[in-house]
Amino acid sequence: ILARIKDVCKRNGLLILSVLSVTIGCLLGFFLRTRRLSQQEISYFQFPGELLMRMLKMLILPLVVSRNMFPANLVEATFKQYRTRSIPIIKSNKAASESTTRRIIIYGVQDENGSNVQNFALDITPPPEVIYKSEPGASDGMNVLGIVIFSATMGIMLGRMGNSGVPLVSFCQCLNESVMKIVAVAVWYFPFGIVFLIAGKILEMDDPSAIGKKLGFYAITVVCGLVVHGLFILPMMYFFITKKNPIVFIRGILQALLIALATSSSSATLPITFKCLLENNHVDRRIARFVLPVGATINMDGTALYEAVAAIFIAQVNNYELDFGQIITISITATAASIGAAGIPQAGLVTMVIVLTSVGLPTDDITLIIAVDWALDRFRTMINVLGDALAAGIMAHICRKEFIKDGAETESYTQHP
Ligand code: ASP
Repeated sequence: ILARIKDVCKRNGLLILSVLSVTIGCLLGFFLRTRRLSQQEISYFQFPGELLMRMLKMLILPLVVSRNMFPANLVEATFKQYRTRSIPIIKSNKAASESTTRRIIIYGVQDENGSNVQNFALDITPPPEVIYKSEPGASDGMNVLGIVIFSATMGIMLGRMGNSGVPLVSFCQCLNESVMKIVAVAVWYFPFGIVFLIAGKILEMDDPSAIGKKLGFYAITVVCGLVVHGLFILPMMYFFITKKNPIVFIRGILQALLIALATSSSSATLPITFKCLLENNHVDRRIARFVLPVGATINMDGTALYEAVAAIFIAQVNNYELDFGQIITISITATAASIGAAGIPQAGLVTMVIVLTSVGLPTDDITLIIAVDWALDRFRTMINVLGDALAAGIMAHICRKEFIKDGAETESYTQHP
């Protein structure tokens, strides 16, 4: 038995450490709350967690650029297959959001005059200064979708340039390989960072006894919805389409889910989601490098669910009776608003404005849910990451025949890509 335990620990060492750090972070946070630390002490305490966030953010840009640009000719091949698969999904989402509201926020930018289609077009063709853009009410976010589109376009062109494009392709190859090596080392810091990230947040939160009963019910409703979506609906979709065991797939991405829980950011979790999908689930890397960054930007099931529940909660607090049509409007605008939310902490809170205005609810009442949002954000981010990963798994299954023809491209982080 000892040998078996040793073997399990060896194979899942990092995962076990991450689970332990989430637990220790929670315990430490609640214990230190009783000690009444000063603001200065709390900020020292949060420092290792801040370092973890910065490490993850530092890796996103080189990772997304190098993955989408190389090998250039394969990007084009992949696009040919996506034309008939991913793109219709994106189009139908856009159509839904267009018909529901003109006052839309795409990627957190509220524009009273411009339509969401205009904002969408502006975001996928970003000038250099908006690769990082400021989100109102949230921390700075990265325009991941714009970067994916730019680097994939570059990849296609490089593929067509033949020999003259080779130097840049080799550069991307090296960049990609070195980023992977950084990730492989950095993951060992993550469990330590997670402890301080979670404990630091618990130290900052409002007094739990001051949070009203109604708000408690609201939080429980959101969590139950997320659990049903994450444990039943998404895995069932995966199972019906691929006929594979979703539990095995989800086990492979557990570490990414824990990082999502710790960071509240699907974009910051991207490097780990890549790692888990490629190393544990053996998803073709051409699929992962396109589906994951796009998914981290526009596919947010958890955020859509939470925004719909939050709007209904705010309506109930205001004794506002919602009819069936308004409930449908809330569902559609919540989906559109979640597409507009960036993959950064509490971005969903900003895009909530769209949902509330669509049914005439007071936008100021967003303040009612702020007290519990930091916690709900963590759970919905987990579901967002789970949705992206399962979508990549489904796409890999659908495209498997084409890729078998081409030769599968799974990889290990330590191998040459
Ligand atoms: N924090 C979420 C994410 O990064 C977005 C949100 O719902 O606020 O996926």
